[in-house]
Amino acid sequence: MEKDKRFAVPGDFLGTSEEFTQGKGVYIEEGNLYATQIGEISISDKRVINVLPAVETPPIPEEGDVVIGRIEDIRDTVAVVSIACVKGKEKREIAASTQGVIHISNVKKGYVNELQQEFGYLDVIKAKVIDAKALRLSTEERDLGVIKAICMKCKCNLKMKGTALACERCKRVEVRKISEDYGKGVV
Ligand SMILES: [Zn+2]
Repeated sequence: MEKDKRFAVPGDFLGTSEEFTQGKGVYIEEGNLYATQIGEISISDKRVINVLPAVETPPIPEEGDVVIGRIEDIRDTVAVVSIACVKGKEKREIAASTQGVIHISNVKKGYVNELQQEFGYLDVIKAKVIDAKALRLSTEERDLGVIKAICMKCKCNLKMKGTALACERCKRVEVRKISEDYGKGVV
């Protein structure tokens, strides 16, 4: 039982108090130890038995899911996005290294000359998963694209001004593929 990982559900008999010392997630009744929660059984060197809560599996983005992420890198033909959460599953964190890409042809309807004109480093974006395996994302639809951006010069939040973004402090104007939900937070 010590060697391989085993899961317990509340009420599962784990052993006796002669074999083990009560640890976390365990209760004793008449000399028997039982699990109080769902979790993995772990036994320490000193024979302390614990039932540790199972960590929720991070959601894996599926095709059609809308994800929120941050632009990490802008190359010639792709923007690299670190995906922070899947919409509708916001409370569950995604595996830290989940990266998606937006190919230049999936940014918006119509021709994109330069990706730098559509995204900025660290912009928060909303995108749809179009290929779950390769984690290819699209921002073509109106509600998709940049939802938050900061001024490259003074790091202030940029405000929507017509079809562009403007910095209230330095008056710098930047262009992006802006979502119609820009500035509304994660909606
Ligand atoms: Zn500025």
